[in-house]
Amino acid sequence: MTIKYIDQLDIKDKRVMIRVDYNVPYDKEMTITDDTRIKATIPTIEYCLKNQCKIILISHMGRPKGQIKPSLSLKPVSEALSKLINIPVKFVDTPLGEETVKLTHELKNGDIVLFENIRFYPGEEKNDRSLGELLSRHADIYINDAFAAAHRGHASNFAITEFIKTSAAGFLLKDEIEYSQKAIDSAESPFGAIIGGAKISSKIDLLLNIITKVDFLIIGGAMAFTFLKSKGYSIGNSLCEDELIDTAKEIIRKAKENGVDILLPVDIVGAEEFDNDSPHAVYSIDNIPDNIIGLDIGNKSIELFSAKIKESKTIIWNGPMGAFEMPNFASGTNSIAKVLAESSCLSIVGGGDSVTAINKAGVADKISYISTGGGAFLEFLEGKILPGIAVLDK
Ligand code: AMP
Repeated sequence: MTIKYIDQLDIKDKRVMIRVDYNVPYDKEMTITDDTRIKATIPTIEYCLKNQCKIILISHMGRPKGQIKPSLSLKPVSEALSKLINIPVKFVDTPLGEETVKLTHELKNGDIVLFENIRFYPGEEKNDRSLGELLSRHADIYINDAFAAAHRGHASNFAITEFIKTSAAGFLLKDEIEYSQKAIDSAESPFGAIIGGAKISSKIDLLLNIITKVDFLIIGGAMAFTFLKSKGYSIGNSLCEDELIDTAKEIIRKAKENGVDILLPVDIVGAEEFDNDSPHAVYSIDNIPDNIIGLDIGNKSIELFSAKIKESKTIIWNGPMGAFEMPNFASGTNSIAKVLAESSCLSIVGGGDSVTAINKAGVADKISYISTGGGAFLEFLEGKILPGIAVLDK
C-alpha cells in the first residue's frame, strides 16, 4: 500500500478534517463508560495542535439509521475530549450548511470543533457522494484515523475523499495497519493465534486465512465444541453449530496440510444451566455428561494453552475462552489474558470481548498492541481490503 501519513503533509494553517471513531459506550445517563477510543485519537490531535492548524473532527455513534436520536448525540464526547486535552472543543450540531462552512472557514489555528453524529444523515451509510461533497467544503486536508470504522465505505470515510485533494491516515490508523500487517505478513515464529467466542460462523474467513500463516492455533470458547464434535467427542448440551461440522473438519485438514498445530480444550468447566449460579464442575472432554453445557475451559486446558503461549514469539488473540461475562466461567479467559501479558512475545489483541478481558485483568499496558477495531480488526486479519483504507491508497 502507498498510503500517505499525516506526518508527511504540510498541515500548517490548513483546515484539517479528522475522521475519528468516537463510537464509545454510554450508560443510561449518557456518561461515557469507556473512553479508550477517544484517547486513541489524541496523538493525531496533538500533532495537529503542535503544527498549528484548524481541527474539524467527524465521527459516527451507534446506529441511528439516518435519524436524529438525542441518545446518540456526540455532545458528551466533545466534553470528555475537552477535559482530556485541556482545550475547549466546540460542539457543532449542524455539520452541513452555509453557517457551518462559515464557522469552519473562520477557525483559527489551534481551534477544535466536533461535529454531531454523522449517521444522523441518511446519506452517510449510503456513501452518498453529495454528502461527501458537502462535508469536503469544510476542509483542505482529510485525515482518516477511524480504524474501527474502516471496514465500512461511508460518506465520511469514502465518498468525501473524492472531493478533497489531499487524504492521508492519522497515527492511530498507521499503528493499526502496521501492527496487524506485521503480525500477518512478517510474524516472528513461533506464531500463533488464539481464537475464541461463540461461533465459528462469524470467524470462518479468519480461520481459513490464518491457518496458512500461523504455526499453531488455539481454539477456545463455544466454537471449540463444534471442533470437538467434529472429532467425535460427545459435547453434552454445549453450544454447537452442527451445520459447520464439515467446515471444522476442513479447517483441521488444512491445518494438517500446512503443518499447523490445532490446540483444543482437554477439559471444560460445565453446568446444567447457562447461569452463573448453576452448580459447576470440571469435566474431561471425553467425559462430558449429556445434560452439561461447557461454559469455560478447565485448568488442564489453561496449562496446555499457557505453555504454548510462553514459547511463542508472536500471538494474535480474538474471542473469549468461555462465557466470561459470568464470573464463575471467566477463569479461562482471565488466565489467558494474564499469561499473554507475562509472555515476552509480540501480542496483538482485538475484538471487544478480548479487550474487555485484558482490561479487567489489569494487564493492558503489558500487551504489545490492543486494536480499537472489532469488525475492522477481524476483516483485516481475514486478508480483506478495508474500503476506508483502500480509498487512501491513491
Ligand atoms: P464472539 O462475539 O463470537 O467473539 O463471542 C463472544 C461471546 O461468546 C461472549 O459473549 C461469550 O459469553 C460467548 N461464549 C464464549 N464461550 C462460550 C461458551 N462456552 N458457551 C456459551 N457462550 C460462550
